[in-house]
Amino acid sequence: MTNAAVPHVSTVKALRAIVAGWRKGGSRVALVPTMGALHAGHLELVRLARRHADKVVVSIFVNPAQFAPHEDLDRYPRTFDADLAALATIDCDLVWAPTVGEMYPSGHATRVVPAGAAEGLETDFRPHFFAGVATVCTKLFTQVAPDVAIYGEKDFQQLAVMRQIVRDLDLPMEIVGAPTVREADGLALSSRNRYLSEAERRIAPSMHAILQALAQSLGAEGARLTAAKADALAAEAAAKLTANGFGKIDYVAVRDAGTLAAIDKLKNGARQGPLRILAAAWLGKTRLIDNVPG
Ligand code: AMP
Repeated sequence: MTNAAVPHVSTVKALRAIVAGWRKGGSRVALVPTMGALHAGHLELVRLARRHADKVVVSIFVNPAQFAPHEDLDRYPRTFDADLAALATIDCDLVWAPTVGEMYPSGHATRVVPAGAAEGLETDFRPHFFAGVATVCTKLFTQVAPDVAIYGEKDFQQLAVMRQIVRDLDLPMEIVGAPTVREADGLALSSRNRYLSEAERRIAPSMHAILQALAQSLGAEGARLTAAKADALAAEAAAKLTANGFGKIDYVAVRDAGTLAAIDKLKNGARQGPLRILAAAWLGKTRLIDNVPG
């Protein structure tokens, strides 16, 4: 059933006026940051937000600062009307949809550059990505001033980076992670899946299957798991991706689930607690990322 249209605002002033009214009434506020092109994974984030707050703001902003010049900023899907329609089917109180000029007015020069969890993995291949994400999300946090922000585990390193930023900058809010929503065949939902050709779409779910198999092999090693063994098993998984038709494999990595540190950087060079397996690889012109518990 479709509810009434979701209100949307595009200026910081209008946003703040609405949120201030909510706060006066004592409401807890949740923020779900997105770049639009909403799918069922995003809607799960909104449902989770509702469980943590009285009012839910979904931001829709395709952030130029997190795209390198050669990346897909221009062709990134923009489906604002469909996004509003999708949000009207669930419980969302407000859409925050600033223009690029509102977010980055002329003369804007401050960047938030995270280290720690932002080092390695995505940063090895997209060196400016997390500074772009951290800058826009820190702005979203000061604009909306939410009590809680929801991020998907689909972008596991991003989730860790956001937790670190909130900790490091003493932001008075909490970050909550939401499980990855997948197609029935295991492919993680992503706005970029629409770039895949039919043939690529058939290959794409093998990434999840291969990561799951790697998780089983790591599990079989138990406490004996060494960094060398983890690397060898990750290399085997990368070779399987290639054999399945993936092009360039950016990484298949086994990391500490909390800090994202490599196993050889952990105490005694051995696994301490939960691991996370993270991967990024190309299928034609589309870059897919995914991750599973290790
Ligand atoms: P995006 O706009 O797709 O870059 O992502 C907006 C938010 O949705 C991020 O917190 C993502 O981690 C999350 N997200 C994207 N895809 C999924 C998915 N398949 N399941 C759960 N969350 C997701």
